[in-house]
Amino acid sequence: MSLGYQEARALILDHVPTLDVERVPLLDASGRVLAEDFRAPWEMPLCDNSAMDGFAVRLADCKEEKPTLRIAGYIPAGGKPSGAIPEGCAIKIMTGAPIPPGCDAVVPVEETEESDETVTLLAPLKENQHIRFRGEDVAPGDLVIPAATLLRAPEISMLASNGMVVVPVFRKPRVAILSTGDELVELGQTPLPGEVINSNAFSLAAAVRECGGEPQILGIARDNRADHLEKLAAGLKCDALITSAGVSAGDRDLVRDILAELGATQQFWKVDIKPGGPTAFSMRGEVPIFSLPGNPVSTMVTFEQFVRPALLRMMGHRNVVRPLVTAILKEEVKKKAGKINFLRVRVTVEEGRYIASTSGNQHTGILRTMLRANGLAILPRDATFIAAGTEVELQLLRDEEMMLER
Ligand code: AMP
Ligand code: MG
Repeated sequence: MSLGYQEARALILDHVPTLDVERVPLLDASGRVLAEDFRAPWEMPLCDNSAMDGFAVRLADCKEEKPTLRIAGYIPAGGKPSGAIPEGCAIKIMTGAPIPPGCDAVVPVEETEESDETVTLLAPLKENQHIRFRGEDVAPGDLVIPAATLLRAPEISMLASNGMVVVPVFRKPRVAILSTGDELVELGQTPLPGEVINSNAFSLAAAVRECGGEPQILGIARDNRADHLEKLAAGLKCDALITSAGVSAGDRDLVRDILAELGATQQFWKVDIKPGGPTAFSMRGEVPIFSLPGNPVSTMVTFEQFVRPALLRMMGHRNVVRPLVTAILKEEVKKKAGKINFLRVRVTVEEGRYIASTSGNQHTGILRTMLRANGLAILPRDATFIAAGTEVELQLLRDEEMMLER
């Protein structure tokens, strides 16, 4: 009895370890996950300061309509805090400069008329207008970024503002990638009929990179025991190992047996999905091993379902699966009962609804259909006919590209 893909994924996420913590320069932390709570060491802003280029004044001096005040000083951005403002005066002030003691409003330059030594305020004032107060954004000790947060530009900005030169993040996994099969030739060789270039190594390495891991391509293990033993053992030295092909029921499909010989414990083999049914997952010590089917489309679809979430979890991410949305199928689809089908689709948005249209021939051997797809529609296990206009669940693979035509 094969496993449901969600159960399979849950089992994987139960087993994979979170990697240890490393301290990296701030910019290298972007796209990574913060490993420790970050509390602000000081307040932000550090002092009351002007939010506009203009004039700092005291409301008490501005009781009449359109008052004219003497300009008693100038504080540029980066200027030091000044002494108190003399009575009946204004201080010219630039954005970010410290508010002189006693001032309780800033008048934007656009609302003034300036002559040599005086300024006339043209608009009515409100108390505290255009003043940014000390500590109004962040107080010292505030938990501004909790551990396990994905660091994007706003978090990087906050960390930079607080002087964080290096940041603790979860380490990236080194992910070994091993292809198996006697029919494979290396990239750079011209394949003869019956030979296939080892493209899976590259699609997997690209996919590992896209989710933030560090791929290590180990090459090809030929369909014999000795080669499998040597190369699988090498792969087990990394943080995770992905194999492609050799995991079905063929008599040359050696991956699972040799992994067992090397001390790996199989957690599952076979999932009720198409493409990607023969996927296996094992652990050896702390090292997860993903044995994916060899068909390039199956390899990519199973990476998406099982490996990507696992690698993200190893790097400390909380959200490890793509957003699931509801879409309307544009065409009718026929399928066999018994397996969940991932239908490769082009998704568009029409009148605020997702519309999924098949991206082409759905045979697992057709790679072009994968290139055109920006989503996978999940067709229920026991359905055999799904009418056009039916709502289906959908994984968005490339949501930023949704509106582009190919
Ligand atoms: P298998 O899982 O060994 O039955 O392989 C299924 C299909 O995937 C066959 O057509 C293989 O030629 C193809 N295939 C296996 N490994 C790779 C690879 N590394 N790169 C591209 N295609 C592959
Ligand atoms: Mg094979």
